[in-house]
Amino acid sequence: MASKPPKPALVPGRAARFPASLDGLQGGRAGPPQAQLLRPQRHLHEAARDAARATPPRGLGLDSAPVRLALVQRLRADGVRCEPVLQAMARVPRHEFVDSALVAQAYEDTSLPIGLQQTISKPSVVARMIEWLYLGEGARSRGHLGRVLEIGTGCGYQAAVLAHLATHVVSVERLEPLHRLAAHHLARLEVPRCRLVHADGMRGHAPHAPYDTIIAAAGGDDLPPAWLDQLAVGGRLVAPARHPDGRGQILVIVDRTAEGLRRQLGEAVQFVPLKSGTC
Ligand code: SAH
Repeated sequence: MASKPPKPALVPGRAARFPASLDGLQGGRAGPPQAQLLRPQRHLHEAARDAARATPPRGLGLDSAPVRLALVQRLRADGVRCEPVLQAMARVPRHEFVDSALVAQAYEDTSLPIGLQQTISKPSVVARMIEWLYLGEGARSRGHLGRVLEIGTGCGYQAAVLAHLATHVVSVERLEPLHRLAAHHLARLEVPRCRLVHADGMRGHAPHAPYDTIIAAAGGDDLPPAWLDQLAVGGRLVAPARHPDGRGQILVIVDRTAEGLRRQLGEAVQFVPLKSGTC
């Protein structure tokens, strides 16, 4: 998401400090969760409790799981209803993806700088976009997002959330320092089922196509044709693009059915620009 905050140092290997124990994602979870929509709230508490138990406390202070749970409860109050998405958000320690100077803001609903003029997306936008994906016919019948392509890895936060909901995630980033930073974050947290690619995501990523789910974290004038070409039948794409009235950006949701492409518009958003080429 776009913002104009100060630029933090990009130092792979620095430990984010949170007044909390740092509960990482545990590797080796087999397959995507058997998701259901609109499950009772109790499951969210269970997810947070499990996350808290998953790793022994490290460092000083309180556990971060309750802070994440509070964020997730705010997302729920703001209208996110898809229980698997809320559970995945409850599991991923967002403070591990931001610079140590910004850790105190990690569970606010705000975008934060990750260096190179890029930002980690607002949690509410991450949740809402993944909810759109989940509400697609394919994901509903399957119970998970299947094969996912993410354009714009950034620091890897959204890829980690997606990994809880997918059979696998291919995430493409054009800026090599961010690609490497994300790889560091995901390895440290042992996030499973994620393949990071340093490339121009405007071309999608043909070697692993087609995808059941495509999500972009950067917006251009319109959707690159490669994304639509690489969307499987029954698949759904969610991406920001220029608003039809020319002012700002809006989420575009595309479903590929046996008959062809079906397009609808979602809410207004504000993402960093989709750029071509790699650096
Ligand atoms: N997914 C991130 C958000 C990253 S911000 C999160 O979890 O919060 C958007 C990212 O898209 C930036 O890192 C930017 O470099 C990247 N980006 C922009 N154009 C791109 C392109 N053509 N291919 C791949 N990545 C691109």
